[in-house]
Amino acid sequence: MSSTYKNKVKSQGVDDMVLLGKLNNDEIVTNLKKRYLSDIIYTYISDVLISVNPFKLIPNSCGPEQIELYKGRYRYEVPPHVFALAENAYRKMVNEGDNQCVIISGESGAGKTEASKLIMQYIAAVSGKSDGVEKVKRIILESNPLLEAFGNAKTIRNNNSSRFGKYFEIQFDAGGDPKGGKITNYLLEKSRVVSQSKNERNFHIFYQLLVGATQREKDEFGLTRPEDYAYLNKGGCYTVDGIDDVAEFKDTKRAMDVMGITQQEQKNIFQLLAGILWLGNIQFVELHKDTGIKNMQALEFAASLLGVKPDRLKKVLTYKTLNAGGNIVDALQNPDQASHIRDALSKTIYDRLFDWLVAKINLSMKTTGECRVISVLDIYGFEIFDKNGFEQFCINYVNEKLQQIFIELTLKSEQEEYDTEGIKWEPIKYFNNKIVCDLIEEIKPPGIMAVLDDTCKKVHAMDGGKTDETFVGNLNAISHPHLHIRNNGFTIKHYAGDVVYASQGFTERNKDTLFADLVQCMQSSTDAFTRNFFPDDTSVKKAPTSAGYKIKKSSQELVEALKKCSPHYVRCIKPNESKKPLDFIDSRVKHQVEYLGLLENIKVRRAGFAYRHTYDKVLERFKILSKKTWPHYSGDARSGCVAILEDPAVNIEKSQWQCGRTKLFIRLPETYYQLEELRERK
Ligand code: ATP
Ligand code: MG
Repeated sequence: MSSTYKNKVKSQGVDDMVLLGKLNNDEIVTNLKKRYLSDIIYTYISDVLISVNPFKLIPNSCGPEQIELYKGRYRYEVPPHVFALAENAYRKMVNEGDNQCVIISGESGAGKTEASKLIMQYIAAVSGKSDGVEKVKRIILESNPLLEAFGNAKTIRNNNSSRFGKYFEIQFDAGGDPKGGKITNYLLEKSRVVSQSKNERNFHIFYQLLVGATQREKDEFGLTRPEDYAYLNKGGCYTVDGIDDVAEFKDTKRAMDVMGITQQEQKNIFQLLAGILWLGNIQFVELHKDTGIKNMQALEFAASLLGVKPDRLKKVLTYKTLNAGGNIVDALQNPDQASHIRDALSKTIYDRLFDWLVAKINLSMKTTGECRVISVLDIYGFEIFDKNGFEQFCINYVNEKLQQIFIELTLKSEQEEYDTEGIKWEPIKYFNNKIVCDLIEEIKPPGIMAVLDDTCKKVHAMDGGKTDETFVGNLNAISHPHLHIRNNGFTIKHYAGDVVYASQGFTERNKDTLFADLVQCMQSSTDAFTRNFFPDDTSVKKAPTSAGYKIKKSSQELVEALKKCSPHYVRCIKPNESKKPLDFIDSRVKHQVEYLGLLENIKVRRAGFAYRHTYDKVLERFKILSKKTWPHYSGDARSGCVAILEDPAVNIEKSQWQCGRTKLFIRLPETYYQLEELRERK
């Protein structure tokens, strides 16, 4: 049997992998590879979109003509594309009035952020064009460069890696025009502010500021070269291929203008950033019975930029007020401990500045009244490093939660479809990672986070060091097949692989509090902008919440929000480490295919039936196959489909298909090919 359809499949693979002939992980990889090498980066598994990062601009793939091509078209009429997914989400929202969400997942550098931007561009292009609407769209689109400047950095995996999670809700009126939006941000990797691994950078904004500031700003803020700052020279990397920091600084400032961030506020922001850089340059030395400052100039500069007195800053960095059994004592901090306090302050300032920016963007696109929503979730993927700490633990936990709703929603909706259509099916075995989510978040019996919180509470009087050991000791109370306790840490068997966590720093990061003296010092700032980041909340007697608790709460809220929407999935795959085009490493892709559970995804879709479509669509496509339906068929669509399939000229076995309430179900992919081939021969 030769045909153009079959030949096309041979060279370019199938558009929808539910229709794969043989089904295993290698076949999935081969199919993606064939397509990738033909510059086709998108493939479906039913309504899940797989996107393989091309690391190059594919000609005629994302421009305005392409948007036109997808506008108003059904998915099956056009080749797989993130625009088709955006179109589908947008039309569903407009026509059915349901909220939609797009969940984008994949490892660092796989193309999540690029996909999310394409979705936003598509929606902006196909919705209304009135002045008010254009303004909202501008804010929505310009929020990307702004947040990328402050929240993205060059890592070894990705030159523009998002170091925070983002949930972007675009709000529409009943006519489908954007009228506002809201961003929720998750867990900025604030440790990057004070140190970077080799060949990595701090957040883009620091480099932008150093090359982009005016001479006056440079003089005023003491800005020189990145090499001169301890917070920027750890990774030994200052410039990035393909990133023009001067041009990006202009974009960042323009985006700030669009958000309504005033010139004064912009100046305040830059001053604060300079303050952080100078804080980082403060070095401590051990003196006889005291801790001294090695370079007073750095201390004075930092103090002046932050609007506090140098003496006071020195005091809160080198002494800590402790309450030892009712006695208030000033405990001297050694140079190491003092550096630690300095870094904690820098991280907190930056983290709060980032939250402030998000709040500012939200304010500029705030809207009231009823609205419909399309939300896009772009959150950092699963991370396995050589050394994994508290941050990886939180990130991987969020990924477990997302995998959990993927499982729940895809399986649930599949099952529901078979039920509503009245079709019998066999459930498929898959790994349900709920067990891993429970291991981390359960209260009763206590999971890892609960044990960590408990440890932090009980040993709060103790200082650093040993608490992490106590934490690991306490973990022994948990007996769980996915947890293995080791020296100085533990291993979790995640859905995407085993990760060894080093417990060092867990308790401190979980507590996530600044010492009271430090906060009071910042509250004394003569600079209102800086002071604002340290509100006086001692009057509000809240129990301090841990970082773990916050991430757990926000991911639970996220799951709740996502469950209220019709989900759309983009699963991004990173085909190589080289960041080069046409470099497709089979083993790398296979690993991702495995942990993303694509095989199970296809199996679930095919459990029983590989193909299904509404009767009218099937009739429209295949009516040419039978004299009974071609060129006109006067009966209803369902009987038309039956007439085609029962036609001896078509020759499809009765056991190979079933009629549901509104859709025709076809069991094997071969049967579907057979129909396609017959159609092409006509
Ligand atoms: P992280 O988790 O680190 O934020 P990510 O999944 O968001 O990673 P992106 O920043 O979207 O990854 O993509 C990394 C780089 O890959 C981009 O800067 C771009 O160079 C390239 N890239 C990704 N998607 C595409 C695409 N569709 N077309 C062309 N290039 C792409
Ligand atoms: Mg990203």
